[in-house]
Amino acid sequence: MRKIPLYIKIIAGMILGVAFALLAIRFEGGVQFTKDWIKPFGTIFINMLKLIAVPLILASLIKGVSDLKDISKLSRMGLRAVVLYLFTTVFAVCLGLTAVNVFNPGKSISPETRTQMMSAYGVDAGKKQQEAELQKGAGPLKFVEDIVPDNIIKAASSNSTMLQVIFFALFVGVALILIPADKARPMKDFFDSFNDVILKMIDLIMKGAPLGVFALMATLVAESPGWEIFKALGKYAVTVITGLVILIFIFYPSLIYLFTRRNPVQFIKQVSPAQLLAFSTSSSAATLPVTMECVEKRVGVDNEVSSFVLPIGATVNMDGTSLYQAVAAVFIAQAFGLELSLTTQLGIIVTATLASIGSAAVPSAGMVMLVIVLAQAGIPEAGLALIFAVDRPLDMVRTVANVTSDCTCATIIAKSIGKLEEPAKAV
Ligand code: ASP
Repeated sequence: MRKIPLYIKIIAGMILGVAFALLAIRFEGGVQFTKDWIKPFGTIFINMLKLIAVPLILASLIKGVSDLKDISKLSRMGLRAVVLYLFTTVFAVCLGLTAVNVFNPGKSISPETRTQMMSAYGVDAGKKQQEAELQKGAGPLKFVEDIVPDNIIKAASSNSTMLQVIFFALFVGVALILIPADKARPMKDFFDSFNDVILKMIDLIMKGAPLGVFALMATLVAESPGWEIFKALGKYAVTVITGLVILIFIFYPSLIYLFTRRNPVQFIKQVSPAQLLAFSTSSSAATLPVTMECVEKRVGVDNEVSSFVLPIGATVNMDGTSLYQAVAAVFIAQAFGLELSLTTQLGIIVTATLASIGSAAVPSAGMVMLVIVLAQAGIPEAGLALIFAVDRPLDMVRTVANVTSDCTCATIIAKSIGKLEEPAKAV
């Protein structure tokens, strides 16, 4: 029998998960059954992926940077990465602003619907608002300050401080290049082998992906609070998703074609396992292992590029998040009956870019950072309560955009420095 490809199994897991939940909610105790007996498998799967995130970043970045042999190579890639990341993020915000001004999703919201949604999600949104409140007092350079940890053990103990781990790993990698080769060898050998072990672990974890994805989808559908509210926010969701779909299926493939002359359809197929995982985990960080595998083995990007560009991209390059933040901010303003001036909307380009860079690569992070955008534009933050209901599905799609952007940038950078090979593995 022909082996079924992993991404087909993952799609099957998703569809079966939704079907299972739709069936389960019809029976008494079905939701409870899903919570008790299905949900844990999803949690275990996500935990396994998160478990691997910090060691992966340490291993792959230290190995990646120290393999570069000289600093000039590092700055060559670094500069390209910064330019590409900024360009794609700013493009995404502008696209989001255009979409929301064309669709005007917030203008159709009636005050009654708004009150109903606020009270339905008051508790959870309140918690998010509290977190968001903490962000609000922060100065403009706070996100730069936050990159430098004061204790590496503390930084490595939380997946939301991934940027700090990246900073440390880069620092160690640079120091490794700067010391004499014979002195650097033992540590380099250690990290080479450490890296191989981590990659094998990822391989093993991914064998469980179809089951994990089944459990995640089943739980999401079984626990959803009812379709009325989703319907009220449908227009807003459609606006965000339209923007994201344009990014994922038109903008990135066009960039790939323009800069690498590769077949864009083939490219999307090659990165699809990472996209599917991003969709079901809502976390670029949790998806990182698979993103790296796809980009190296299926697209043909040299490990020297991917191990440097991808971990950074997963944390700072969030086009989907920035697009979403722009749409959400204007939507909330519209829902509250506020007219935003052109200057305010231009300001959103800057704040949404910074807020997306500062968002951690974990579920819902983009929503917490949204408060920076709202505060700057003078939009009531209570609006967070309004959009909370549909955040998860949007988070799933924006994470796909985030991950696809990382893959695209890595491929373009690899091409520009002659490190893009024909893929070893046929798709
Ligand atoms: N979940 C997104 C990610 O990990 C971040 C966000 O909430 O927008 O890429």
